[in-house]
Amino acid sequence: MSGRRIVALLLCLVSLAALAAVAWWNPLAALFATCAALVAAGLTRLLASNKTAQQPTAAATVPESLNKNDAVSPSALLDATMNSMREGVLIVDSEMRVISSNSAARNIFAGVEGKLEERRLTELTRNPAIHDVFRAALEEGERAEVKVEMRRGDRRIFDLGVAPLRFAGAGRARGAIGVFFDITQLERLERVRQEFLSNVSHELRTPLTAIIAFVETLEDGAMEDAEHNRRFLNVIRKNAERMHNLIDDILELSSIEAGIVTVEPRAVRLASVIEDITTALASRAAERRVTLHNEIENGAQVYADARRLEQMLTNLLDNAIKFNREGGRVTIRHEANAGSDRISITDTGDGISPEHIERIFERFYRIDRARSREMGGTGLGLAIVKHLARAHDGEATVQSTPGEGSTFIIELPKADGRSEGGCL
Ligand code: ADP
Repeated sequence: MSGRRIVALLLCLVSLAALAAVAWWNPLAALFATCAALVAAGLTRLLASNKTAQQPTAAATVPESLNKNDAVSPSALLDATMNSMREGVLIVDSEMRVISSNSAARNIFAGVEGKLEERRLTELTRNPAIHDVFRAALEEGERAEVKVEMRRGDRRIFDLGVAPLRFAGAGRARGAIGVFFDITQLERLERVRQEFLSNVSHELRTPLTAIIAFVETLEDGAMEDAEHNRRFLNVIRKNAERMHNLIDDILELSSIEAGIVTVEPRAVRLASVIEDITTALASRAAERRVTLHNEIENGAQVYADARRLEQMLTNLLDNAIKFNREGGRVTIRHEANAGSDRISITDTGDGISPEHIERIFERFYRIDRARSREMGGTGLGLAIVKHLARAHDGEATVQSTPGEGSTFIIELPKADGRSEGGCL
């Protein structure tokens, strides 16, 4: 076996081990390992096409440990490795013509008919960033990375790393290898995180600004103004309470999302939970002249964590009162189906139009921000309800007719067929 082939094979084996160890966990390390694997693959392929090179024999090219049971050729091994990778891999020659690709790359360029091999990069994509980075690797012989966005139906974002392929002794790159990491999900999470931070800052700043302004007014002399100072103090207290509620809700939501909050479902008498909540909310309902109709049968039972169920239903009933019309009505019903229990809360408020329906359970999503704030809302209540329902393996949904009202539904699975207790 030639020295070059031995080097290629060694590279290939080291790369396979590195790939297996890191590919799932560390994208940067995976990039390194992938590049190494593909350099080896490229070398093997190009060496194989070299007419002067010796033909490989299975015994000479595959270590014992790998071919003890099955005779696997190195190229089959590399093909299997390449095709099992989540990252798309594209190798081009010095003319920017594809000489090798894996199945993930074929998926990325699925719009291209037939095989990718033999096609020019320009036939695969018109994205200038992709061309530039491959060209840089070929012409300048340097590794380069770029973030690229591709649209094929849905929008996908990739970190593309390209490295030149050189042969020993040869100065110029004979080809280049590009590895496409799909970072769409990471980007989405990052966006959600940033949105969350900016929402939290915004939500906290508003009451804080009001508090500072009213404290300054008091300091500037309003303290002696017996007619107004109580009202100012009242505003300060309200805004401080709002911040307090907001922080409570944020902490609650993050504990649920982090899996710290546990649900321990048991058989719960629904009527008594509803009675407790309606008693607690009675004065709030009376203020808005909203009547509460509890249609839950006395013996109705659901399978839930009683405290968490109360929390979900309190949020929904509170909203049904808040967003109802003066003199409106709220009806609470229960329906036992074959595999689940449905608890519904119907109000006679303004309803929710379709464009809001699909976003209504998102954190901080509010139809009328000012109205929600005025009513002491944090914009996190429905997100908490959704998370808690899902923690029960259930779901929270809404149906609404604008102008007539809304029905929020919590669907909980029955005890049969699910494990006792549960962790969020
Ligand atoms: P908050 O009530 O604190 O504003 P929620 O997460 O509980 O936050 O609700 C989010 C938004 O959904 C509310 O601001 C309101 O715009 C809308 N909403 C919730 N419940 C109802 C309802 N029963 N009728 C109409 N709109 C509602």
